[in-house]
Amino acid sequence: MRILEKQLRKHGITDSSVLEAFAQVPREEFVDPSLRQLAHADRPLSIGYGQTISQPYIVALTLEKMALQPDDRVLEIGTGSGYAAALLSRLCASVVTVERLPELARTAQDRLARLGHDNVIVVCADGTQGYEPGAPYDAIGVAAGGPEVPSALCSQLKVGGRLVLPVGGQEEQALLRVTRLGSSNFHEERICRVRFVPLIGQQGWPELEGGEFSPPNE
Ligand code: SAH
Repeated sequence: MRILEKQLRKHGITDSSVLEAFAQVPREEFVDPSLRQLAHADRPLSIGYGQTISQPYIVALTLEKMALQPDDRVLEIGTGSGYAAALLSRLCASVVTVERLPELARTAQDRLARLGHDNVIVVCADGTQGYEPGAPYDAIGVAAGGPEVPSALCSQLKVGGRLVLPVGGQEEQALLRVTRLGSSNFHEERICRVRFVPLIGQQGWPELEGGEFSPPNE
């Protein structure tokens, strides 16, 4: 077992399919060559444009809480490097991943195609609106933190579906799991405190004039 899976186990990740996905997807392929030595450290890393590839433990926790089944159809918001989308593609039937920055979307799409993740579609759009053409989804994961739960994401969940997302301020958020129990009945659980880059869009934070937020360094 590689160092990364050992660290995830030590932090309490027990889902064997999640650990297996981490073993199958080479994280070093999703970072700049200059950061390859750090690719297996349990920390976020810069991917340019003020964004980060998330800390492996937080990705693993999100995947575990999404409670994925092999035939699930999943939506991810915040493609970034494409790493979490690659893990998702090993855990479920199909993945739509949405990224607002065209450069990141293009790089991730090329990388995912090159690595053979052919059950993933990368869409360049505002993910706070979800992605209606692929709805409803069995699970939705969001890799950027907004001030509230975007209603479009709730409405694109199947009954029984799970939405895992960070919600709160720009400095710190709570990682939440929202489960759809019925057409207008949702159950919300708090998982832990986290620090994600901002979710920017119609149901997220407004875009800052003159550039992006600086990324958190956790
Ligand atoms: N899952 C990624 C983590 C990327 S960080 C990985 O494994 O590398 C979060 C990403 O969310 C950033 O790339 C950022 O540009 C993107 N993002 C922020 N707001 C968004 C929005 N409204 N829609 C889609 N992507 C968004």
